[in-house]
Amino acid sequence: MTTLSLAYIFKQQQLLVDEHYQLPQVESLASDLLISAGDQVIARDLLDHEPIPDGLQLVPIRQLLQLWNIKEFEQASRAIQLLEWRRNHKFCSHCGHKTNVHASEYAMVCPSCGYHQYPRVNPCVITVITRGQDEILLAKNARNKNSEMYGLIAGFIEVGETLEDAVRRETLEEVGLTLQNIQYLASQPWPFPSNLMIAFKAEYAAGEIKLQPEEISDAAFFKFDQLPEIPFKGSIAHAMIMHAIHGTAVADDTQAWL
Ligand SMILES: [Zn+2]
Repeated sequence: MTTLSLAYIFKQQQLLVDEHYQLPQVESLASDLLISAGDQVIARDLLDHEPIPDGLQLVPIRQLLQLWNIKEFEQASRAIQLLEWRRNHKFCSHCGHKTNVHASEYAMVCPSCGYHQYPRVNPCVITVITRGQDEILLAKNARNKNSEMYGLIAGFIEVGETLEDAVRRETLEEVGLTLQNIQYLASQPWPFPSNLMIAFKAEYAAGEIKLQPEEISDAAFFKFDQLPEIPFKGSIAHAMIMHAIHGTAVADDTQAWL
């Protein structure tokens, strides 16, 4: 008797799903990464030479983010990040020996020196900044040259920094402003490629907008009723902007992002 597993099968940032955007059931292989043992959920890569199975299609996971609920997206996000980690840790980063997959935990183990490499997330702060009762700071990313989208100030935590330090530093570096009343809002795993977005809100304290040109091509305080194009629904940035304007929840155990 063969048991079927629910499968997350990725080709880079695309996932195999049926016409209703549901996961396929497959026979599991020894090389599969087990995501959940009880329910038999596995993850694997679709290799370049492998055809797309009949009845299935490859859909970018950014698109699935808008079709699925948070729990479904989080499991997909976990699957793609674990696969990426396993793919990138085939050798020991300490001594260079080929690694083995640990039998019972997510670790790539070096048989030569014993070094364990665990999956890693990169913490990243993202801040919604308001001024007065009806203005929000939005900034255009300099790297997205073909986009008219204005987003929030975000950046990676540096070694030795607190989250609040990172919020202050990124804002000062990217737009030259200082902040007050920095408060934690929520977090979202973001598998592009392996970040944890940690959301804060803060109020403008002082300074004139001064852009860091390699990061930001434009930034301004926008009136709540005169927003430019903003990040898509399903992203934490969208929920944070809605929170600042309408007071809606950013994220909790329900499906607040949607
Ligand atoms: Zn080693």
